[in-house]
Amino acid sequence: MSYDVTNVFARILRGEIPCDKVYEDEFALAFRDIHPVAPVHVLVVPKGEFVTLDEFAAGADPSVVVGFWRAFARVIDLLGVERGGYRTIVNTGPDGGQEVPHLHFHVVAGAPLGRMVSRAVRP
Ligand code: 5GP
Repeated sequence: MSYDVTNVFARILRGEIPCDKVYEDEFALAFRDIHPVAPVHVLVVPKGEFVTLDEFAAGADPSVVVGFWRAFARVIDLLGVERGGYRTIVNTGPDGGQEVPHLHFHVVAGAPLGRMVSRAVRP
């Protein structure tokens, strides 16, 4: 999928739009979602130009993949959500409900989160 350099997360990564930063290193930026759906709702965003998780998994340099997951683990540690648990969501494409075309991992936590997927869409 072609990458749109004007997407909002690209602009946040370039510092053109402010964010409530939780963590940053050379591989990832993590910041609080502007419309949180739970007491903790953080977006962990790889710095490379990837739209989808499958593109990242198939195409990113292995050092980038490992670097990203180490950053992800650091974010979980900083948020202190290991004990209570958390949910990680990656929305992809139209059916997945992806609004921002830059790969991002939602981390939601801080309360019981209920069902993984609404009953309404079950077959
Ligand atoms: P998606 O549906 O693409 O998986 O989720 C995009 C998320 O980005 C949404 O939860 C939305 O609230 C969040 N978001 C959109 N624009 C901004 C922004 O400018 N700043 C922050 N912090 N979050 C945003």
